[in-house]
Amino acid sequence: MTTLTFRGAARTVTGSRHLLELPDGRRILMDCGLFQGSSEYLHLNSHFGFAPHSINALLLTHAHIDHCGLIPRLCREGFAGPIFCTPATRELTRLMLYDAAHIQEEDIRHINKLRLKQGVGAAEPLYTSGDVTRCLKQFQTVPFGEKFEPLPGVECLFTVAGHILGSAVINLIFQDSKGQPIRLCYTGDLGRYNDPIMLAPGQPMPADYVICESTYGDRLHDEDADTASELLSEIEYTCLTKKGVLVIPAFSVGRTQGLLYHLNSLYNKGKLPSVDIFVDSPLAREATQVVRRFPELYNERLRKELEKDADLFGFPGLFFVETHEESQKLNERKHPFVVIAGSGMADAGRVKHHIMHRIDDRKNTILITGYAEPETLAGRLKSGAKEVRIFGNEFPVRCEVHTLRSMSAHGDAHDLLRFLTAFEPKKLRRLFLVHGNYESQLYFADLCRAKGYTSVDIPSLGAVRSLE
Ligand SMILES: [Zn+2]
Repeated sequence: MTTLTFRGAARTVTGSRHLLELPDGRRILMDCGLFQGSSEYLHLNSHFGFAPHSINALLLTHAHIDHCGLIPRLCREGFAGPIFCTPATRELTRLMLYDAAHIQEEDIRHINKLRLKQGVGAAEPLYTSGDVTRCLKQFQTVPFGEKFEPLPGVECLFTVAGHILGSAVINLIFQDSKGQPIRLCYTGDLGRYNDPIMLAPGQPMPADYVICESTYGDRLHDEDADTASELLSEIEYTCLTKKGVLVIPAFSVGRTQGLLYHLNSLYNKGKLPSVDIFVDSPLAREATQVVRRFPELYNERLRKELEKDADLFGFPGLFFVETHEESQKLNERKHPFVVIAGSGMADAGRVKHHIMHRIDDRKNTILITGYAEPETLAGRLKSGAKEVRIFGNEFPVRCEVHTLRSMSAHGDAHDLLRFLTAFEPKKLRRLFLVHGNYESQLYFADLCRAKGYTSVDIPSLGAVRSLE
């Protein structure tokens, strides 16, 4: 029997891990992500639901932590096989995993201080920087469009997903128990066809089974929204009119580079006001360096722009903040400025400090730039909370909270359906929807059925499906 088991991102958006078992018992794991957004996920993050040593190979779609964030733990618990991804994904994953390990090591120090007071034993982090260093030795990179065998007799091809730098769609061909070929496509996270930076999603291979993300399966992005002008008016309003501070929580990988690209375009057009802009995230600085190293993964329009401007992510007045001391100094700064800092959902990282210091003054603005889980700090601010809890203290929300309309690294319902046109409805045996809230998935399933994809399946966590 050939089976698929959904061990994460099933009727939810984080913790992507999908397990393919071949008739001879060999196992391929696709993605190994961290569940995020709730402390209830601790159990799911420390228990895989399968034996890590039983996995023969891991295929990684992209560097976001909800897709790669548990790889060091998987390896620490006995997975010794190869990990395949694109070269850019490896570079970004290295940064992401060291950052995640660092955050966990810091968190556990705080937690253990409390536990010591309560007289309970010390807790362990999910993994350490040492575990990251060890797991990186198992990585093997394969560029887009080059076929390879993750295991003997299994063919794989990475095609462009267009979501973040290096992000891939996994196309697999293997044999069922009767020796017949099965073709499987797993989208990972899909980008937009008109992303300002990324290549559009590429043409996948034909498939019998598709595992498709569905984050925005019930939404259409506002195509008329112009991110650069929205950003400009936020800066002018907060920094020039109100003379305040504009705090922008943003993911260090992907979103921050998107923001820098738009700010750089404004600068090139002579529109950017002379207000200092700080990126307060060493991770974002390093990720921006990685993005600069892979211009071949930009879309054509951007590559043309590169001929006129050698640095599309840098301009005078932009400063990258390195140390904690420099970061803290920003809290005392009186005159207007813009600060971009991680994390995007403001549930961790330096942005929490910036929000805490600016939240009680109406002349400041917090600008949310993307999806935020409802329980996170950004999520609560976005939903209009009058008071929020930061580092154990309640703060009244006196500053303004705005949301950018147009930035998303995920395709909307049109983009997802456009991607699916690569598969003939009659030939597709099953379309599995993952990586979405259940309500959005139900809505998107109806859209798929209307296009002729009759066997849509929304597996729950732990669901096992036969592919024969
Ligand atoms: Zn992603």
